[in-house]
Amino acid sequence: MNAQEIIAIENKFAAGTYAKQPIVFVRGQGASLFDADGVEYLDCSSGHGVANLGHAHPRVAEAIARQASTLVTLFETFPNDQRAALMKKITSLVDGLDRVFFCNSGTEAVEAALKFARLSKGRAEVVAAMRAFHGRTFGSLSATFNKKYRRGFEPLVPGFQHVPFNNIEALEKAVTNQTAAVILEVVQGEGGVYPASAEYLQAAHRICEERGALLIVDEVQTGFGRTGRMFAIQHFGVTPDLLCCAKSLAGGLPMGAVLMGERVKNLTPGVHASTFGGNPLACAAAVAALTAMEEEDLSAQAAAKGEYLMKKLRAIASPYIREVRGMGLMIGIEMKQKAAPYLKALQERRIIALNAGMTVIRLLPPLVITYEQLDCLAEALTEVLSTAFEADEANE
Ligand SMILES: *Cc1c(COP(=O)(O)O)cnc(C)c1O
Repeated sequence: MNAQEIIAIENKFAAGTYAKQPIVFVRGQGASLFDADGVEYLDCSSGHGVANLGHAHPRVAEAIARQASTLVTLFETFPNDQRAALMKKITSLVDGLDRVFFCNSGTEAVEAALKFARLSKGRAEVVAAMRAFHGRTFGSLSATFNKKYRRGFEPLVPGFQHVPFNNIEALEKAVTNQTAAVILEVVQGEGGVYPASAEYLQAAHRICEERGALLIVDEVQTGFGRTGRMFAIQHFGVTPDLLCCAKSLAGGLPMGAVLMGERVKNLTPGVHASTFGGNPLACAAAVAALTAMEEEDLSAQAAAKGEYLMKKLRAIASPYIREVRGMGLMIGIEMKQKAAPYLKALQERRIIALNAGMTVIRLLPPLVITYEQLDCLAEALTEVLSTAFEADEANE
């Protein structure tokens, strides 16, 4: 099959829920992706924040291969060596979160956290933030703000409300003795790369404690070194009651997890479960991924490289840039016009980046990206971002 045939097949048989790009990628290595003709691209998307360790990481590849021929599936009612190793490792990453529930994706982690919060408190209400993105199944979609994701799927789960992000007063008003949980991203990702302030997160923690609600932090995108710490919340000295993670947890294999503290209660056999959750294959991959992240000090790499890139981006003198913001290697460049033509121009220069809303270019490169690649990226961005694109060139 050549590239054109592959594209035609996907266009014909896919459900239609994705806007397909005209490039076929068949291989990855570090921060590089290679198309069917062997042409190299710089991946600044990491598969939407999954490949923090880069593509084809040897330690993860070895663990997957070994475990694939050992034991792939085992329901969590039976203990397993790989799962036990992962439980020990993942709960050692954050102080005060000593238990974990495993699932298979970000949205499932959020669903589990919402269910656990309702069950713990015997309360139904959830307070989420405007611009929040928490996933696309009904519970997490109800916590997601943007109408673009919600439209056509109502009625959603009752009991959810959205308050302005980074606004302490609004949170004070919204959280009552009926609130089961407040759910927040530490840096809003899909919503446009907006970091929470330290004061806001600390106030959210205090307000939850005062009103007897639980604080859920969604680190699905910010987790595992992305922002310069293992978890972004660790920048702020706040320990949530529930921490959702997924994306890069298992080095690219599908896996999600909810870490929880002692205020989470009533979790007894049968209240929640997942067929694939905690399967030995994903667990082995996650142990390898977390070990590699520690060995390579991936968080420190993200912090240093993020600072390096941010400096270069802030030095770009383009009248079309509104703001550059972010944490570590989670960076948003807000344009005064639509992001789509800029992403297309970057793609023509063999750089894969993401949008976050209509006007924000989002960079989520693998944290193993080299300084040489960062220089390449900064050079391409300097050129591309200084171009005025007509609004009608936007293909979104
Ligand atoms: C990607 C993402 C999700 C959903 O994860 P899926 O694995 O796609 O279900 C939830 N929350 C945040 C913050 C995300 O970035």
